[in-house]
Amino acid sequence: MELQFYNTMGRTLQPFKTLDNNHVGMYCCGPTVYNYAHIGNLRAYLFDDVLRRTLEYFGYDVKHVMNITDVGHLTDDEDEGEDKMLKTSRETGKSAWEIAEYYTDAFFRDIDSLNIRRPTVSPRATEHIQDMIGLIKRLEEKGYTYESGGNIYFSIDKFPDYGKLAMRDKQDLYAGARIEVDSNKRNPHDFVLWFTNSKFEHHSMMWDSPWGRGYPGWHIECSAMSMKYLGEQFDIHCGGIDHIPIHHTNEIAQSEAATGKKWVNYWMHNEFLILGKGKMAKSSGEFLTLSVLVNKGYDPLDFRYFSLGGHYRSQLQFTYDSLDASRNAREGLFKRIQRLKAADEPSDINSLDGKAKEYLDGFKEALAHDLNTPKALSWLWNLLKDSSVSNSSKLAAAYDMDRVLGLGLAELQVETAQDDLPEEFKALIREREEARRDRNFKRADEIRDLLLDSGIVLEDTPEGTRWTKNV
Ligand code: AMP
Ligand code: ZN
Repeated sequence: MELQFYNTMGRTLQPFKTLDNNHVGMYCCGPTVYNYAHIGNLRAYLFDDVLRRTLEYFGYDVKHVMNITDVGHLTDDEDEGEDKMLKTSRETGKSAWEIAEYYTDAFFRDIDSLNIRRPTVSPRATEHIQDMIGLIKRLEEKGYTYESGGNIYFSIDKFPDYGKLAMRDKQDLYAGARIEVDSNKRNPHDFVLWFTNSKFEHHSMMWDSPWGRGYPGWHIECSAMSMKYLGEQFDIHCGGIDHIPIHHTNEIAQSEAATGKKWVNYWMHNEFLILGKGKMAKSSGEFLTLSVLVNKGYDPLDFRYFSLGGHYRSQLQFTYDSLDASRNAREGLFKRIQRLKAADEPSDINSLDGKAKEYLDGFKEALAHDLNTPKALSWLWNLLKDSSVSNSSKLAAAYDMDRVLGLGLAELQVETAQDDLPEEFKALIREREEARRDRNFKRADEIRDLLLDSGIVLEDTPEGTRWTKNV
């Protein structure tokens, strides 16, 4: 089955073709670790995860790189505003390094609890300053840079293709948007590669460079780190749609200017999660985090299920009512799977009965067609609701689908009534309890192993021995 993705570059649905057989290089813009990820950011990382899992499901070997932006960056993409890390540092009295470490840990905790698979590589910007300096030097040698007011700028007028991703020419990029013009810039859309002339004194994150002591502009890290880990050309670059006009536009300019080659083949962008009146913004201080939802009693997977319910290229409106609906559906799904597990073992995926294979094919097709997760979920429900499909085929197909959905279906524990066990097993458990009382641990262990062979796991609790079915 051929995969098709919507490529922002060109705005069309395109068949997916890799540069190197079944290997996929995929770079996703990651968090700036000066605060918790908000649930909008988490939607973006969930999209990355579904994309990666889909590629793996279809047999690709994916190298997934996601940067951790731990150098201070400005509250505005256009080199304006206050430095985000320094702002938090000032507000909390902690150093920028401490803040970065704390929020990097928080980021990994959030993604783990959402069953987002950890990227293959998560390079930290602070550990790649020399790579960034190297790339800026290349740009300098090729004449794409200029120094002004102590900073090194990229001159967009030297790069004829500037703005091709945003499909706007230089004149109307941001038409209507108000930008404060930096008088050092020759063109208002030029951007900083290296700052030495910080507006903010006491910048704690500074490095020596050929242009003086300072720190990198934001965009350069993604070009430097992606090329370091994926090579000068790779398959997919992802991020939220807000990155199209500035961040990704600038990443393309500096990468392609440096190498003289096309950089990335597929640009994939997720739409926004919106809340109330508009987009959520970390910098405005109005945002919802995963722990806010957990403190209200939701399971992180309720949010995963909620996100799967929207296509990544459509805006998703967050409301507690819709999160409640997702929780109900997710709980219903888990109960069904638990009942199936308690009753049967999954069959072989290659010998599904009834219409199970049709449902699985529908599921695959939905994902192959630009990651249609809402449709994919509906195929899972069709499968589970069809009484002509056997329990074991349902389980096998549902587990298979869950390789992409990532809801942890195969790991669900089965709650079994303690008296719902054949008499011969109950007798063995009683015998084992007696053996333990007599300190005959050899016999007790023999019985434990005997039951384990029959799929019964024993656990000794203060209330006595409990058993569960090993599924
Ligand atoms: P940031 O830390 O602001 O660079 O954002 C990290 C990722 O989240 C980027 O890919 C953004 O495009 C994405 N993002 C930011 N806000 C939202 C939102 N409300 N909905 C979906 N994605 C978002
Ligand atoms: Zn980036």
